[in-house]
Amino acid sequence: MDTDKKGINTICTHEGGVKDVLFKGATSPLYTSTSYAFEDVDAKRYPRYFNTPNQEALGKKLAALEHADQAMIFGSGMAAISTALLTFLQAGDHVVFQQTLYGGTYNLVVTQLEKFGISYSFTTGWQVADFERELQQNTKLIYVETPSNPLLTITDLSGVAQLAKSKGLMTMIDNTFASPINQNPIDFGIDVVCHSATKYMGGHSDICAGVVASSKENMEQVYQTAICFGGNLSDYTVWLLERSLKTMGIRVKEQNNNAQKMAHFLLDHPDIVAVHYPGLENHPDHGLAKSQMKGFGGMLSFELSREVDVSQFFKQLKLIKPSMSLAGLESTVSAPVTTSHALMSAEDRKKQGITDFLVRFSLGIENIEDLTEDIEQAINSVKSMQVHA
Ligand SMILES: *Cc1c(COP(=O)(O)O)cnc(C)c1O
Repeated sequence: MDTDKKGINTICTHEGGVKDVLFKGATSPLYTSTSYAFEDVDAKRYPRYFNTPNQEALGKKLAALEHADQAMIFGSGMAAISTALLTFLQAGDHVVFQQTLYGGTYNLVVTQLEKFGISYSFTTGWQVADFERELQQNTKLIYVETPSNPLLTITDLSGVAQLAKSKGLMTMIDNTFASPINQNPIDFGIDVVCHSATKYMGGHSDICAGVVASSKENMEQVYQTAICFGGNLSDYTVWLLERSLKTMGIRVKEQNNNAQKMAHFLLDHPDIVAVHYPGLENHPDHGLAKSQMKGFGGMLSFELSREVDVSQFFKQLKLIKPSMSLAGLESTVSAPVTTSHALMSAEDRKKQGITDFLVRFSLGIENIEDLTEDIEQAINSVKSMQVHA
């Protein structure tokens, strides 16, 4: 299929399936074999070689979605990110990481990289100049995350890519929060795109998976590392992920719409003191977000007024569930201070602007009126409890 000419929902639905030549069924047959007769010595199929029929077919859909030559599917987002990093780095190299990293990636960086003789710096902000300031003689790679967690800051993709190219460095992005529906970093010059497919790609809170997408040359290198580390995804789950991806376009669009409406509702609410959402005109990087994103995403964060206790607020919610994870069909909230950013020192949290009153909100596909009503009743319950206490 010539994916350049096809719409995103057509790619989600049709690209990269396994054709059912035997029965002409509508969906991809699932090939569970770990053993394939080899007719050609160069074409040995094996799950850990990432080349079973279902892995190969789904890789094509993912590559098309990210405007990449090739993509590989991993057992988790962290398997994808760690494999990608260790593919391109070696002892003596230095990496510049964006300050606002996903917790698991932060942990990988601070507990593992030094063992391999790889050094690193974190930026103090997310402007291109913040990345440039951390460059060293031996810097090999720049790693970005945009929109970031949990404050939804936006990093200038072309700016960072140009900086890297001017110095002969590689760029890598965690594109999980945006999903390929809202952002295609390769179009802006970023080299390697990683995803936790556990989030928007899976979308139903029942799959743990990861993705790396890049040029043919880069993916050949990722492949060599990946077969050593063995982080492939089971074919059963590959099949389920293909099923999920078919609806990713319509799911994410609805999540974008809900987040935009919720952001406006919260902005106008007297008990909310701050709303962070790149789709709001008052977001400091709204213009940049508009220039590099096709939708502003289903994630936002907000700060409750000091009169509303966060944990009480969570207890009073009826429809929206407090949860560590995100991006499912169902709306969830979390408090970064007690979950994703709990291990960070209070001082570091303050530096990043993460207060004890901050709530991260992952919008699902429920009707927006039901979601705003749930927020309203929860705030009112907490306030009336406090009055009576
Ligand atoms: C969840 C997540 C990851 C890690 O993915 P797993 O599938 O849990 O390994 C990485 N980056 C971001 C932004 C995430 O949200």
